[in-house]
Amino acid sequence: MNGSRAARVNWSNWAGCESAECSVVQPATTAEITEAVRTAADQGRRIRPAGSGHSFSGIARPEELQLRFGRYDRLLALDTTTGLVTVQAGMPLHRLNNLLAAAGLALTNLGDIDRQTVAGALATGTHGTGAGFGPLSTQVRAMELVTADGRVVPCSADENAELFRFARVHLGALGVVSTVTLQTVPAFALRAQEVSLPLADVLARFDEHADTIDHFEFYWFPHTDRVQTRYKTRLPLADGLAPLGRFRTWWDEELMANSVYRVLVATGRRVPATVAPINRIAVRFWGSRSYTDRSERVFTAARRVRFKEMEYAIPRAALPEAMRRVRQVVESSGWRIGFPVEIRVGAADDIPLSMSSGRESAYVAVHVPAQVPHAAYFGAVERIMADYGGRPHWGKMHGLDAGALRRVYPLLDDFAALRDRMDPQGTFGNAYLDRVLGRPPVSVSPAG
Ligand SMILES: Cc1cc2nc3c(=O)[nH]c(=O)nc-3n(C[C@H](O)[C@H](O)[C@H](O)COP(=O)(O)OP(=O)(O)OC[C@H]3O[C@@H](n4cnc5c(N)ncnc54)[C@H](O)[C@@H]3O)c2cc1C
Repeated sequence: MNGSRAARVNWSNWAGCESAECSVVQPATTAEITEAVRTAADQGRRIRPAGSGHSFSGIARPEELQLRFGRYDRLLALDTTTGLVTVQAGMPLHRLNNLLAAAGLALTNLGDIDRQTVAGALATGTHGTGAGFGPLSTQVRAMELVTADGRVVPCSADENAELFRFARVHLGALGVVSTVTLQTVPAFALRAQEVSLPLADVLARFDEHADTIDHFEFYWFPHTDRVQTRYKTRLPLADGLAPLGRFRTWWDEELMANSVYRVLVATGRRVPATVAPINRIAVRFWGSRSYTDRSERVFTAARRVRFKEMEYAIPRAALPEAMRRVRQVVESSGWRIGFPVEIRVGAADDIPLSMSSGRESAYVAVHVPAQVPHAAYFGAVERIMADYGGRPHWGKMHGLDAGALRRVYPLLDDFAALRDRMDPQGTFGNAYLDRVLGRPPVSVSPAG
């Protein structure tokens, strides 16, 4: 394999819970992607495209060959009149945000971090919060995929429309995404207001919060009865910014949210009895603050304390009851949960494997420190989510297989059938895809 010669490396994801030894190919052109895919398919070997490794599930885990896009990450086109921007698959969101800002544009919504690549973020349905907003995939207007037989296939609402419909949340299963065109919006500011409130009050007025705030979310600190709410309101940039000062940013984001938090989490891990008091201190420390800054700076933050995460989407109307049950199960167990439970909301969309496909959703995310066992806690929350037709995030931990998933993702079998047509040998497969989609008809055997 050319310029991108396969080197043997050890790979692991951000959380450190998935790892593999594999050969790496780093293409710099679409022709090099095509060649790598054709060669792998001819040899009956599995090849897995990689993003930034920020998925907690095994979705990105390579088994034999890995395609990395560090040399295939350029801006291809940016039209300030239409707001359409086309990038290569490996473009990281943080670099895209900077390029857009320089052109007076922005992505309309973002998740908590900006480290993912564009193709990697779309693969799993990465989302932020806001009752009027869907995941990043709803901002896609066109894509190009290199298929298992080495063709370069464009798709959009007007061309290969069925492929486009499915490929916006693609699981890395339909081919190698080579380019993506996104619809951006004029750059805007966000006013962030953060305040600690009683959990019961927030649940009682959940719909009101979700419907009246552009981007609403809250964090419940287990073993306390309080939540930290975050309200983000969209404002024109021309109204001016009132960002946090440099010292306050360093204090809040670096010291408190990362350095001190790392020590608190480590203390809680070593001495579980300290977890509840630490959570009570954390929710008070976070306290109240208000600031206005460019949207991408308010949506995202650095996350340096490593954790594991599971997230489910449930119908939004079910959130208050589901959340009360999560609290009950946590408080009646002997667990000491040091990380907050994060609640966000999202609009219904029309993407078959999106967590919010066809229904207004609330997202429930649970976390534990990276080294702490998660099975009992995540399993208990997963059983509660099942009672509400919960759909797991593809990039986060969950225990469901194709049989359970097709009950909550009604178009799962259509997606799997499309995958079978596009990749009958399972050249892009891995153990995770085998579990969630089933194996393709004439699949190659994975090498250990
Ligand atoms: C600290 C942290 C915070 C997070 N916050 C959020 C959040 O706020 N909201 C949210 O929804 N999620 C969040 N996530 C999850 C994360 O956004 C998703 O798991 C995302 O998919 C990771 O993107 P990545 O670039 O790291 O891709 P990877 O995890 O490396 O890969 C994900 C998938 O993309 C595929 N892929 C990558 N590139 C290509 C390509 N070119 N062609 C085909 N397939 C490809 C891979 O094969 C794999 O299937 C967070 C994760 C972490 C670690």
